[in-house]
Amino acid sequence: MAISKLLIANRGEIAVRIARACKELGIRSVAIFSEADRYALHVKKADESHRIGSDPLAGYLNPHHIVNLAVETGCDALHPGYGFLSENAELAAICRQRGITFVGPSAESIAAMGDKTRARQTALAAGVPVTPGSDGNLSDVEDAVNQAAAIGYPVMLKATSGGGGRGIRRCDNEKELRQNYERVISEATKAFGSAEVFLEKCIIEPRHIEVQILADSQGSVVHLYERDCSIQRRNQKLIEVAPSPQLNDEQREYIGQLAVRVARECGYVNAGTVEFLLDHDGSFYFMEMNTRVQVEHTITEEITGIDIIKSQIRIAAGEPLGLSQKDISHRGFAAQFRINAEDPKNGFLPSFGRISRYYSAGGPGVRTDAAMYSGYEIPPYYDSMCAKLIVWARDWPELIERSHRALSDMAIYGVQTTIPYYQQILDHPDFRAARFNTGFVERNPQLLEYSSKTRPESVAAAIAAAIASQAGL
Ligand code: ADP
Ligand code: ADP
Ligand code: MG
Repeated sequence: MAISKLLIANRGEIAVRIARACKELGIRSVAIFSEADRYALHVKKADESHRIGSDPLAGYLNPHHIVNLAVETGCDALHPGYGFLSENAELAAICRQRGITFVGPSAESIAAMGDKTRARQTALAAGVPVTPGSDGNLSDVEDAVNQAAAIGYPVMLKATSGGGGRGIRRCDNEKELRQNYERVISEATKAFGSAEVFLEKCIIEPRHIEVQILADSQGSVVHLYERDCSIQRRNQKLIEVAPSPQLNDEQREYIGQLAVRVARECGYVNAGTVEFLLDHDGSFYFMEMNTRVQVEHTITEEITGIDIIKSQIRIAAGEPLGLSQKDISHRGFAAQFRINAEDPKNGFLPSFGRISRYYSAGGPGVRTDAAMYSGYEIPPYYDSMCAKLIVWARDWPELIERSHRALSDMAIYGVQTTIPYYQQILDHPDFRAARFNTGFVERNPQLLEYSSKTRPESVAAAIAAAIASQAGL
């Protein structure tokens, strides 16, 4: 099943990342783009590109259309990236029917693990501790109230098919649960096309610890250690670090084994992530499994030296991992900063528009996975993440200093970004001491009180940059 040409069913930085992996593997890459993405970087980085309609979103979300295009363009494989159709079992199934190798797990694994209540049952069957919660989905609001009383408040009301931090509400008492019940259902129906919801006990200010796994079709399963994604805002990750500076080696080994057990239980093949919550008393609870590559796979690559995207493609082609657990070591610490075109001081309001100038960060230990360039206009239809700044260092103190340096190195003119906010976080004594949990952002609103370091730019320079980019200079 050698792969010679691959369709990238995504956009933005992950599409660029996949095109780069293909180049290193000697695989031709095919990009797809909406009209709004005509000038997007992923289109320039792939070997070939095809427009998939005028609507900004419809083309990226139509599995039949995308697989047709893969067949027509002579592709033998398809990589879904993250978001969009990456956790859509139908896409994997259509690929299989049409003879296209899907770079990801089977349609059955996606269906089983993408459903959070089914995934909880799989984890339980594997003997892995799960956040206490309802048995299966809730039948109605009275069922929710009864089960919540048994679990004990506060509880989290969650959409069974939710993702990206959406479709989750904390309820501190029965009144809030009743108020939120219809809201979460309507949110889930709109965003995920499913009205199923369930309950979990709310763990107070936990740490979010997730384990990257790789599994080949010969039955080998390994983990690539963990990432700490506790720096979140509204359940969405902002900064991720690997390995977690908050675990000792014994905990690290324990959680790695739990993740491998979950993957084995569901016969998982390809790259995946098993997410856990770590409670104050040291208990780990399985939360969910992401059956795709994650935004923050980069930091695992930095500490282990393993290229996860290339591994995904090789596994999909039927190659064995060629690695056993003892071959996988980790070195130093890595952090990823999601550079979002948002104004943190203004409630993280998206700040779309033209990037008049952009200077990427560089130097030792610094990697940028970006989807922008000077003169690029960020379309308003998609996620606001326009780049990821990834920093590696030998130890935690060096990581902090190098991250500071890299964030100030990276210069983006024309839109507001989360960069100055991350610089504030790096200065916080708790972050420096590697003591943080998912409550960090909410507990520290003062970090938003920096003087707005919008980079002033003369009108003349802006015009010159615009002319230069129009002229393709
Ligand atoms: P990760 O877990 O890899 O850090 P996120 O959970 O932040 O990633 O999601 C990655 C991207 O995919 C985001 O743009 C998010 O909005 C989107 N996403 C994740 N899950 C879903 C889903 N079930 N439906 C739609 N979009 C999703
Ligand atoms: P998504 O599919 O959107 O990634 P998750 O189930 O992974 O949703 O949860 C996202 C985030 O919400 C977690 O990282 C955590 O911060 C918070 N969260 C989820 N479940 C709980 C819980 N039971 N207790 C406390 N926080 C939770
Ligand atoms: Mg999650």
